[in-house]
Amino acid sequence: MVKTTFARGLMLGAVAMGTLVASGASAQETLNIYTYREPGLIKPLLDEFTKETGIKVNTVFLSNGLEERIRTEGANSPADIILTVDIGRLQQAKDYGITQPVKLDAIDKAVPATYHDPEGHWFGVSTRARVVYASKDRVKQTSMTYEELADPKWKGKVCIRSGQHLYNISLIAAMIAHKGEAKAEEWLKGLKANLAKKPSGGDREQAKDILAGVCDIAIGNTYYVSLMRNGKDEEQKKWGEAINVILPTFEGGGTHVNISGIALAKYAPNKAAAEKFMEFMVSDAGQDIHANINSEYPLKAGIKIHPTIASFGELKPDNIAIAEIAKYRKKASELVDKVGFDQ
Ligand code: FE
Repeated sequence: MVKTTFARGLMLGAVAMGTLVASGASAQETLNIYTYREPGLIKPLLDEFTKETGIKVNTVFLSNGLEERIRTEGANSPADIILTVDIGRLQQAKDYGITQPVKLDAIDKAVPATYHDPEGHWFGVSTRARVVYASKDRVKQTSMTYEELADPKWKGKVCIRSGQHLYNISLIAAMIAHKGEAKAEEWLKGLKANLAKKPSGGDREQAKDILAGVCDIAIGNTYYVSLMRNGKDEEQKKWGEAINVILPTFEGGGTHVNISGIALAKYAPNKAAAEKFMEFMVSDAGQDIHANINSEYPLKAGIKIHPTIASFGELKPDNIAIAEIAKYRKKASELVDKVGFDQ
């Protein structure tokens, strides 16, 4: 769904909009961001960026088809920056040929190599871990491996959203990267056999189901726990309070993390402004907003983590590079279908 008047203007035609952006640029420096992210989550970042630089930001919010849209707009695309979550989407943007490589010292310094595209087409700005939500009342265990989620002792006790959701695809892809396809398939079958119900809902709904006694453990992202516990919704507060967070690890590895990341659009008309924005995202101010407003893990060393996220214990991120995990996403999606995970 397109949500801004700027976006509606764009729909009238890429060529017309290209002209509009170019003619407006002389008055004030502008930056055009295309994003899958929720408006509420990125607004604080954009506001702070404009405050610091005076650069006006136009944002196109899309819930699907962002890559196709930019590809269709072609060389006339007004897109400067692509902002999204998940390895898969960043990789897809690169595969679609709508990005260009970036080389900036600030990024190299702030963002560990594991979170970069090796060719510089995208990089992470923050991470989130895919963890276990465990019933405070019914689960005494405080540590766990991902492999253990397939242990029959959890039969009928596990909740999860669709196996085809990007977050789960990346987790399964990471399992393939660790164990190979055959073992990952066995694991996925075991996990499916443990499900309390057919996969449905989002990550927050799994916490809701734990509160309701439908399941004892669930798989979800870290930031939702903070958003539930610290948000305004009284129901969600109860869901968030019903669970403890366990940071699982792969056998012989760490905790699976995914990134929220950024890419420079191939035909970025405002490249200088785009580079300033990328530098801002990895600056102390940008990283602090990711950590403390969005409850994500900052990538830059020395930035304080949100207290709710810090309460989960020390995160030891898995050491397989994000770009390596991305290679197994297609295979992961095929496995989900093959084992009938969502059936
Ligand atoms: Fe999310």
